[in-house]
Amino acid sequence: MPSFYKAENNEITKLTLTKRANASNLPEVEIVDLKQELALGNKSMISTLLLKEIESKLKAKQQIILFLNRRGYSTFIMCRDCGYTLKCPNCNISLTYHMTQNILKCHYCGYTKKKVNICPNCNSTKIRYFGAGTQKLEQEIKKLFPDATTIRMDIDTVNKKNSHEQMLTKFKEEGIDILIGTQMVVKGHHFPKVTLVGVIAADGSLNQDDFRANERTFQILTQVARKGR
Ligand SMILES: [Zn+2]
Ligand SMILES: [Zn+2]
Repeated sequence: MPSFYKAENNEITKLTLTKRANASNLPEVEIVDLKQELALGNKSMISTLLLKEIESKLKAKQQIILFLNRRGYSTFIMCRDCGYTLKCPNCNISLTYHMTQNILKCHYCGYTKKKVNICPNCNSTKIRYFGAGTQKLEQEIKKLFPDATTIRMDIDTVNKKNSHEQMLTKFKEEGIDILIGTQMVVKGHHFPKVTLVGVIAADGSLNQDDFRANERTFQILTQVARKGR
């Protein structure tokens, strides 16, 4: 943790917050191991506990934030026969499938390609889409809770017409049940009616190719945890 390390060595000043801004208690946090969920037959990215909590908050007319720090629908595409993965020809990183536009996209350089159903390497049709992003999470939530209102917030939905600020205001003032988003949902705003924050695949960002991945993950998770009460 580079910043923490620097602070401990007095290279930068360490500021400790001992109280929360509104002096409320820290939220209760529960961690669910999805490997165990899978062993029990739950193939969804939403744990049984989170599902139960969402149900009870919806019943109580309270609001929910679901945080998943990967946008798009599937975050990698692989051939089950030869193991070939579809990567950006410029950046060599995995392409993400975007369902709304039905394309494959590189999140670094913006390269796009048509959706692939046949392996470019071995011509097999066993091309499979893995790794869930916010689009897939939204689809799953709509299937599970068809009566709940949702709003999705990520780089793909935030634009000039729907600004970051407007979307958060809409969520707050129109009483939308569930806000689904990437780390964009973490910053700013206090939502008094939000009593549940679900972090999906919380350890996902630890695998990023970045020496600060651990520190970033910790920062985002502590920020997002504070959104719940
Ligand atoms: Zn193949
Ligand atoms: Zn690229």
